[in-house]
Amino acid sequence: DHQAKIIDGKAVAQTIRSEIADEIRILSQKYNKVPGLAVVIVGSRKDSQSYVSMKRKACAEVGIKSFDVDLPEQVSEAELISKVHELNANPDVHGILVQLPLPKHINEENVLSEISLEKDVDGFHPLNIGKLAMKGREPLFLPCTPKGCLELLTRSGITIKGKKAVVVGRSNIVGLPVSLLLLKADATVSIVHSHTKEPENIIREADIVIAAAGQAMMIKGSWIKPGAAVIDVGTNAVDDPTKKSGYRLVGDVDFSEACNVAGWITPVPGGVGPMTVAMLLRNTLNGAKRVIGN
Ligand code: NDP
Repeated sequence: DHQAKIIDGKAVAQTIRSEIADEIRILSQKYNKVPGLAVVIVGSRKDSQSYVSMKRKACAEVGIKSFDVDLPEQVSEAELISKVHELNANPDVHGILVQLPLPKHINEENVLSEISLEKDVDGFHPLNIGKLAMKGREPLFLPCTPKGCLELLTRSGITIKGKKAVVVGRSNIVGLPVSLLLLKADATVSIVHSHTKEPENIIREADIVIAAAGQAMMIKGSWIKPGAAVIDVGTNAVDDPTKKSGYRLVGDVDFSEACNVAGWITPVPGGVGPMTVAMLLRNTLNGAKRVIGN
């Protein structure tokens, strides 16, 4: 009776957060300065609000000063961009994060392109993504969720080099950058998306599966190669009358089925989610270290 090893993202993230807190303590003793992160939110989407408050709280816990910018839903693109410029010019701000999605009247690309490359802690600036895609180039920052996925693999002792990896999803924030990262780490990478025919036949070949489609439990146990490492980014709310909230979160992978086949698997929640926040803190600290004391 096979049981996959469960990769405890919450525990790994906690380890990383205490590593970060230690480094910040040393940095502030030496230079009397702390890293600063600006977290910008536009409007009052419930999910965005909760992500933002999680990020701000995590900053406080490790000693990063957070600069809170809360803008109303109706703010114009020009006003948002001028706020970004202001943060670019503020020497106490080492990282700038604009919570996505933005309201429909604001062009996301126009805003993200204005974030100073040196402060692009989300790694979404087109130049950072471009460098990620090119051989022999290093972006200043790697996108947090993709970086968190790779960190979970490497900290679990899973080899990436020479392995077959499949990424399910190709979004700008998860699927595409995680594919590029795996390629940089010398995996052979296939990308499955909504037009892919018979995705199960491609997924079954993979030693490493990264699921980021946003489709509740679409990946069945029978789609997984025995012994494969499965990183489930999907975070989907499904109705559950037994819960007080009326819903529960599930991944893109059928967890209980996959446990009988996979070698490693991340749970949802408690897998990739906490790693995303830990990587944001790491990126902010790295950005600050390039400036403080230099
Ligand atoms: P998007 O909706 O932007 O992208 C989904 C991608 O999956 C698209 O590329 C789409 O293909 C593809 N896709 C959709 N349906 C299928 C299908 N049936 N078969 C194969 N591919 C499919 O989502 P995001 O990338 O923003 O997020 C993906 C998931 O990850 C979500 O559940 C989200 O909540 C979660 N997430 C979790 C984070 C974390 O920190 N844990 C952070 C960010 C996201 P196409 O391009 O053809 O449309």
